[in-house]
Amino acid sequence: MALLVTNIPWPGDDGDPRPALAARLGVPTAAVAEVTLLRRSVDGRRRPPRWQANYRVQLSEGEDEALARRLHGVRRWTDRDQDRHRAADPPRAPRQRWPRDVRPLIIGAGPAGLFAALRLSEAGAPAILLERGAEVDARLQDVRAFWRRGVLDPESNVVFGEGGAGAFSDGKIYTRRRDGELGWVFRRLVDMGADPEILEEGWAHLGTDRIQRILPTLRAHLRANGVDLRFNTAARGFLVEGGRCVGVRLDEGELRGGPVIVATGHSARDVWAAMLDAGAAAERRPIHIGARVEHPQRLIDEARYGSPRGDLPPASYRLTSNPPARRGPPAARRAHTFCMCPGGTVVAATNHPERVVVNGMSYSKRQAWWANSAVIVEVHPDDYPGEDPLAGVRYQDAIEARAFAAGGGGFKAPAQRVEDLLAGRASTELPRVSYPLGATPCDLRAVLPEPLIIGMIAALRHFDRRLPGFAGPEGVLIAPETRTTAPLRFLRGPDLASTTLPGLMPVGEGAGYAGGIVSAALDGYRAANALVERFAPRLHDPYDP
Ligand SMILES: Cc1cc2nc3c(=O)[nH]c(=O)nc-3n(C[C@H](O)[C@H](O)[C@H](O)COP(=O)(O)OP(=O)(O)OC[C@H]3O[C@@H](n4cnc5c(N)ncnc54)[C@H](O)[C@@H]3O)c2cc1C
Repeated sequence: MALLVTNIPWPGDDGDPRPALAARLGVPTAAVAEVTLLRRSVDGRRRPPRWQANYRVQLSEGEDEALARRLHGVRRWTDRDQDRHRAADPPRAPRQRWPRDVRPLIIGAGPAGLFAALRLSEAGAPAILLERGAEVDARLQDVRAFWRRGVLDPESNVVFGEGGAGAFSDGKIYTRRRDGELGWVFRRLVDMGADPEILEEGWAHLGTDRIQRILPTLRAHLRANGVDLRFNTAARGFLVEGGRCVGVRLDEGELRGGPVIVATGHSARDVWAAMLDAGAAAERRPIHIGARVEHPQRLIDEARYGSPRGDLPPASYRLTSNPPARRGPPAARRAHTFCMCPGGTVVAATNHPERVVVNGMSYSKRQAWWANSAVIVEVHPDDYPGEDPLAGVRYQDAIEARAFAAGGGGFKAPAQRVEDLLAGRASTELPRVSYPLGATPCDLRAVLPEPLIIGMIAALRHFDRRLPGFAGPEGVLIAPETRTTAPLRFLRGPDLASTTLPGLMPVGEGAGYAGGIVSAALDGYRAANALVERFAPRLHDPYDP
């Protein structure tokens, strides 16, 4: 019988946790027979904060586990714990059973498309994966040209190309569970070169540099397992015959095949229009919009840890603002911080000319001088100009166009000191910011609609009470953060196919079913698995052996 022991001081990579475990359990160190590290985290409530860890512990025979189980932070290790922490490694299905005449097409090599391809390849499906952007190495050059010289390639950029939007992300993959389908996603990331630590850490972080190293391995693996991966190949439209989607239109002609998994992300607005034209039904969806707030990382460390951070990781935060309803003028809208990047930078993330969009990213070591997060406010479909499914896209796009104008061109971002926004005046100068193409001091009221400004002001005041200095002279807002997710959702049935256009499967963030790397990968896995169940039902379901 084993025990789960939580919140033990972590002794470091090379340290021995057994003395601290023995002390907690009230047994001699020699009685701690087997120890498995489950999760490591920083206890930021302590002063000073410290690293702590949870362990699975096996005591040597004869030790009184019943006594140990009555101790605080100690309990019996259950089958459920075993499932939660097992990184599922399903048996690879036999390849030859996939029907020869079924050739799935996947559009988009972001997390959703790549993990759909991976699952299909494990089932022996000869899938074709089309990606409009370049392979990650070439893409890196394109992104550098944009960030250094403002030269934008609309087909290969921060959101388009191998790896999708995830390739230049912060790579936060925050989720506690590692069982079932999620276990499969995490295990496959490790198989492709991610640090095995991600199987244990609840707050796992890959970093842009590591994601970019995983992608070539994944690409080689997919090709070796029968996936036909084609870069610089955009789907421009969908072929529909007898009310079914039977393939896609490319610049060079038609490509027939299917089912067609569309995993094109939250920035392929042309694909949304083409899907709607082809007959896929969609509805408007609420989103959040705001600006990136940037501070020196030192300020966040001191606010969170109460002291300089020493050997602790750069501090992060997650804050929400939920102003109470009151009589008189309407309460400010709810807001929260999103995609916090400790030791990260604010990046230019548009794929459209004459538009400014910001986002945040970091490298695995999180060593940048700054910390940033998006402060985003709720936006309702009623705010959108129109009732059609693309109304939210027009709302986003109008903000991005105003931001381009307010920045003064050249993809410079409009920015304002937090203090100035709260005082109701335009900024006339700014501290040094990380945004690569330069920031123009201005009044963000010229960029963001009034309800969003009011929501941000209420939120920033509240956040300043939680983290002193948040609204102080060192805080800068860089705008706009519009692409937090898709402002529409394509309707799909239990088989994950469009309810109105059979043969087409809208998947991932662009379809309205994911909001990050892991959820997009999971949705891609599920779509592919639905096809495995349909076309090769005798193949093993890895989670129901
Ligand atoms: C700067 C930045 C930082 C982020 N940080 C994080 C983070 O820390 N953690 C997190 O979980 N998420 C983060 N995200 C969000 C995350 O990257 C996305 O949620 C995720 O990538 C969505 O996956 P997806 O596969 O649905 O779509 P995408 O990743 O957007 O991939 C879509 C792919 O489809 C391709 N495509 C589009 N149209 C076509 C076409 N017509 N033909 C062929 N190919 C096409 C695109 O080129 C792209 O490669 C970040 C995003 C950005 C931009």
